[in-house]
Amino acid sequence: MKIAILYICTGKYDIFWSDFYSTSQKYFCTTEDKHYFVFTDSEQIKADHNVSVIYQDSLGWPFNTLYRYRMFLRVQHKLSKFDKVIFFNGNCTFVDQIDYENFFGRSSTLVACLHPGFLNKNCEEFTYEKRKNSLAFVGSPWKYFAGGINGGNANEILKIFQILSHNIEDDLKNGIVAIWHDESHWNAYLNNNYEVLKDKLHILSPEYLYPEGWDLPFEKKIILRDKNQYGGHNLLRGAAQHNFPNTIKKILKKIICR
Ligand code: UDP
Repeated sequence: MKIAILYICTGKYDIFWSDFYSTSQKYFCTTEDKHYFVFTDSEQIKADHNVSVIYQDSLGWPFNTLYRYRMFLRVQHKLSKFDKVIFFNGNCTFVDQIDYENFFGRSSTLVACLHPGFLNKNCEEFTYEKRKNSLAFVGSPWKYFAGGINGGNANEILKIFQILSHNIEDDLKNGIVAIWHDESHWNAYLNNNYEVLKDKLHILSPEYLYPEGWDLPFEKKIILRDKNQYGGHNLLRGAAQHNFPNTIKKILKKIICR
């Protein structure tokens, strides 16, 4: 099978690429024909026989992740030639053998992973988009999926990327950014279309998005690197640069007020 692996690493996220690539080569669907599409502004990442580098400006937070579907559609004509298309979060590291059927399912056409943070929670606690004027609003709660894995048969997932990309754009036109960005839109699509999707969606347990340092009742297949060990969320997302002057301002204000 031909598998297109989608990977975004803009800004500081390029530090995760070499680990992602080498462990994916070692453990992920090793008998299949894999090709990586890397969306990045990094000069360190070079194209190779199985790696295409697509220049992508760092769009700032949250657009580096919110605009992911739009980024993927830039190469949709290439992606449509694959059997499967799969996106992984930048900080994923493969730690155990993952075969094709276990990951994509025997006859499923879509794949999603349950969010590790909501294992024993009720639907009411899921952090869906709750504003009805957002296209990410979830009317029929079912399961809470992580944004770290989006995938399936090329033609089907590309259609979903188009729908989600339009929904995100329409929300923005109405001044709305969904609470958990792309993850909210992915959840809205999967939950609100439950009846149609339930038989064709392969649902992975959080062993495929296992946060580093957590203690969950699962084997580890893919771990999510702990971003605190790489400077933390804000630094990686580039948000820290904006917070820094504010912190200085606050300290100066305190000193002046004394
Ligand atoms: N991302 C990126 N650059 C950034 C922020 C995010 O490349 O500055 C990409 C990266 O692939 C990352 C994904 O967007 O894994 C999701 O963002 P983030 O890790 O912040 O979200 P999380 O799922 O950890 O909340």
